[in-house]
Amino acid sequence: MSADVSRLDAYWMPFTANRQFKQAPRLLTKADGMYFRDDKDREILDGIAGLWCVNAGHNRQKIVQAIQDQAAELDFAPPFQMGHPKAFELAERLAQLTPAGLNRIFFTNSGSESVETALKMAIAYHRVRGEGARTRLIGRERGYHGVNFGGISVGGMVANRKMFGSLLAGVDHIRHTHDPARNAFSVGIPQHGAEFADDLERLVALHDASTIAAVIVEPVAGSTGVLIPPQGYLQRLRDICDKHGILLIFDEVITGFGRTGSPFGAQTFGVTPDLMTVAKGITNGCVPMGAVFAQQKIHDAFMTGPEHLIEFFHGYTYSAHPLACAAGIATLDTYADDDLLTRAARMQDEFAKALHSLREEPNVIDVRNIGLVGGIELKSLDGQPAKRAFNVFLDCWDKGLLIRTTGDTIALSPPLIIESSHIERIIDTLRGALRRAA
Ligand code: PMP
Repeated sequence: MSADVSRLDAYWMPFTANRQFKQAPRLLTKADGMYFRDDKDREILDGIAGLWCVNAGHNRQKIVQAIQDQAAELDFAPPFQMGHPKAFELAERLAQLTPAGLNRIFFTNSGSESVETALKMAIAYHRVRGEGARTRLIGRERGYHGVNFGGISVGGMVANRKMFGSLLAGVDHIRHTHDPARNAFSVGIPQHGAEFADDLERLVALHDASTIAAVIVEPVAGSTGVLIPPQGYLQRLRDICDKHGILLIFDEVITGFGRTGSPFGAQTFGVTPDLMTVAKGITNGCVPMGAVFAQQKIHDAFMTGPEHLIEFFHGYTYSAHPLACAAGIATLDTYADDDLLTRAARMQDEFAKALHSLREEPNVIDVRNIGLVGGIELKSLDGQPAKRAFNVFLDCWDKGLLIRTTGDTIALSPPLIIESSHIERIIDTLRGALRRAA
């Protein structure tokens, strides 16, 4: 059934040009495997795993069944001062996948909530250890850490500052790592730019380490244009944090659960943070859920601090929701059944080759990739940033391919079950759209 436009008014859509959208709505009604279907029953190839989350592909039976069974058995359990078995089971299972030491798990309901939780955990950690002056937070230009006040403050998106004002006090930013002059068309990890991490030393010199709680970065920045960390950069950040007693937080909301070729970006890049935020792929996108993974030493600092009724004064009504935990367990089973958490490593050469074949197409000024993430940056239309890429998005939609754009960068992050035939179709469709947009 096609959409009745007169009934689209009430829904105020997030991150959407509502007025434009309602002139020509795009409505998804079904999904299976690598494909969505729309309200006109067209097949749409999913080039972005929904929104970087449906890593095992759509409509996975084990997950569907687990959610149905859980809803019938225990629909809700209050998460404070009591638990339910699947919350403990999921946490144990997750702790086996993380880099060594990151084995204490706090559940949230989204990436944004995970970020707020990690920032608060970092500040409180220093406080329980008697270093209460460490409250300053450091993010990075072009960082994206969700939509709550902490996240938009440590994030580096100009649009947030234009719309919401000056944001949280006591936040600084190191510079971003995008360096097209030296790294354009890098295949995989770019060579140049480890020294961008030294910007952190500049902020330490300015504020003194004793005032700084944590630094937060995405290993791969997705929502601000698919920026891959230069060789050695994350390790250098780690070293500077260690030198000054600053906690390092990786926001792995998009890089978690197999996207870069290992379960987490931390493993792909060989650098272990103190805190790690995840969401999305934790339930294959089926039920909202997020989590913060903490180093045991951080958790233990709370457990050995002064005895209060509550050690960490934070949590959500829906933390460790039974439906999310059931979905999470079934999702980990599905990833294991299909060996998906390392599949991006096996597919990345083929994906990279196809992606980089677009470099000669009109207006392409950079192509970037890691694992099953790709970015294709286009020259902006004069005076209309983001417009050319959005036109490519609309053209691909017409041709039955879902991509995503951030500014003038096209982002690809297909389900990890992708096969060669899908890669070919994605790249052919994009090639056609780029030529038509020229
Ligand atoms: N952090 C990062 C790195 C993200 O990419 C996102 C979402 N794309 C978020 C946080 C926010 O997640 P959510 O939309 O689930 O709140």
